[in-house]
Amino acid sequence: MNRNYQKEMEKVIERLKKERSVPRLLLHSCCAPCSSYVLEYLSRYFKITVLYYNPNIYPREEFLKRRKEQEEFIRLLPAAHPIEFLGSEYREQEFYDAVKGYEQIPEGGERCFRCYALRLEEAAREAKKGGYDFFTTTLSISPLKNAGKLNEIGEALAEKYGTAYLSSDFKKKNGYKRSTELSREYGIYRQDYCGCAFSKKERETAKREQKSRQNSCNALG
Ligand code: SF4
Repeated sequence: MNRNYQKEMEKVIERLKKERSVPRLLLHSCCAPCSSYVLEYLSRYFKITVLYYNPNIYPREEFLKRRKEQEEFIRLLPAAHPIEFLGSEYREQEFYDAVKGYEQIPEGGERCFRCYALRLEEAAREAKKGGYDFFTTTLSISPLKNAGKLNEIGEALAEKYGTAYLSSDFKKKNGYKRSTELSREYGIYRQDYCGCAFSKKERETAKREQKSRQNSCNALG
């Protein structure tokens, strides 16, 4: 049976509302656009710290650009509860070690699952270290990410580290659409590839192929 992770999260939120409690959440974020809707939504119910740990991003300038956008967005967003930021340095070797042997698997496969696990494990570790009540990630907002896999990894890490994982599927309830609206509203930089060097190359190849198909159509037309 397919689980509805959004509904599961709503149940947790309902319970918190009844208890009138505002727990601390460590939210892993991949970038400002993906975090926009998630922060707008969850900051009503949680005191959030955004963890920007993304060693997958290539090149370094892109990593720094996305980190800066993330900090700027947090600064601009009016939030019911204060949002803090926890940034990491560029530790790209951790990504290359995690995906070793899987580099050429296309986006959406095992390489990505390892990339999710790497980033979620850092979030679980930081959540444990900082005594947070929950941890989760913005990643499920993307229609290209596997929400089932993300939640499976998150739940296994919750067991390992002893901090509750907040189930999520942020693309539900028009979350992805809202993130595009907020990106426009706040003028946030939206990248056109997922993050790693492999996804950048895949995107460039797709763009070249599309351009060459268009040229062929124009020549025929
Ligand atoms: S495509 Fe995205 S999720 Fe997959 S490995 Fe690259 S950066 Fe990670």
